[in-house]
Amino acid sequence: MNYDLIIVRFGEITIKGRNRNRFEAMLLLQIQSALKDFPALSYVRGYARVYIHLNGEDYGLVAARLKDIFGIMSFSPVASAPQELESIQKCALEIMRTVDPAPKTFKVSVKRGWKQFPHDSLEMNHLIGSYVLRHCPELKVDVRKPEVELKVDIQHKETYLYCEVEKGAGGFPLGMNGKAMLLLSGGIDSPVAGWMAMKKGLKIEAVHFHSYPFTSEQAKEKVVTLAQRLAYYGGKIRLHLVPFTDIQTKLAQSGHDSLIITLMRRSMLKITERLAERSGALAIVSGDSLGQVASQTLGSMNVIGRSSSLPLLRPLVMMDKQEIIDYAVKINTFETSILPFEDCCTLFVPKSPATNPDLRIVERVEAHLGEQFDRLIDDAVEGTETVLLTETGVPGASKQREDEWF
Ligand code: ATP
Ligand code: MG
Repeated sequence: MNYDLIIVRFGEITIKGRNRNRFEAMLLLQIQSALKDFPALSYVRGYARVYIHLNGEDYGLVAARLKDIFGIMSFSPVASAPQELESIQKCALEIMRTVDPAPKTFKVSVKRGWKQFPHDSLEMNHLIGSYVLRHCPELKVDVRKPEVELKVDIQHKETYLYCEVEKGAGGFPLGMNGKAMLLLSGGIDSPVAGWMAMKKGLKIEAVHFHSYPFTSEQAKEKVVTLAQRLAYYGGKIRLHLVPFTDIQTKLAQSGHDSLIITLMRRSMLKITERLAERSGALAIVSGDSLGQVASQTLGSMNVIGRSSSLPLLRPLVMMDKQEIIDYAVKINTFETSILPFEDCCTLFVPKSPATNPDLRIVERVEAHLGEQFDRLIDDAVEGTETVLLTETGVPGASKQREDEWF
């Protein structure tokens, strides 16, 4: 079937009342940016939707990219016909013949937006339906529960016909709900958490703590690759690489072996909070999942979470590992996440990490570390290296459009 355009329907943004117009404009920009590799496409905005004219671009390729854009509820490939009965009938028949698998029942729903068209919608339902039936004797009409509903939209200049509705990624347009910092380790969980945050309309900046030279250059590369994978969904992504070696070494010497993970995580949050302030982010997202490891018990989460006053968002908190893995596969981060490079935290894992750390003891240990430790935190913030990444690498290398949202 030769499709001429795609109707893209927007999702939850329609509930946002007054700002709807701005969010829709924002989503359109994001769609255009994501589809920049299809230069022939042209765009027309409609109410809570956008019409993308293919102008010869391949529908399948465009659809594959559209599926990953947040804020899109659904979309349909559309064929257009001139304003003339026979052309519309022929087009309807061609569409019905290409539905795969072939349906047994169908119904035609005509909407006549252009009232000058000589037949009204009831007549048109009949004229199109009977034409299709005549040419496809195996088909039947079922107005209540048809397998396929053929929609015919008679507009001013041409008539649009379609019957497929593809599910979009859902969620909100990226950035609509503000910005958050994502704690990105090299593991399976945190990229999934980042994807979920983006799906809910959060623009994210990733923060990764490394203990170079204890952790390798490859471990860092792995995180860069993960951030690039996320950039496929989120346009450009800023990745902050925080030098964590001195802090970890200091904590390892503190003599509180079982608390070291708790102390490390608290330091991470304090540093991230400072980076968030600079970036105007209002939350921290992590890949924590309840009960997965010692630092993710309720007791640990409580003590760790208190080191930052920003809201801590944990999209995976109630999910099982297998569910998280399924998402990781789906969003194309799994293969990278399972590469066997060490994370800074795995280097210092004690034999028996506290599963229920005592906040007062933790605070006492931190107080004891004193100003010298605060300076290490300052140094880590100052020493943070920031790279801006796109799906394919560092921008500038590619000619990606610089626009408001990416
Ligand atoms: P992941 O699979 O994402 O590594 P995990 O199950 O290994 O998670 P932990 O190592 O306990 O869990 O980490 C919990 C969360 O803390 C991670 O999901 C991530 O958000 C954050 N985190 C852990 N290590 C780092 C790091 N080196 N840099 C940034 N964030 C980190
Ligand atoms: Mg990890």
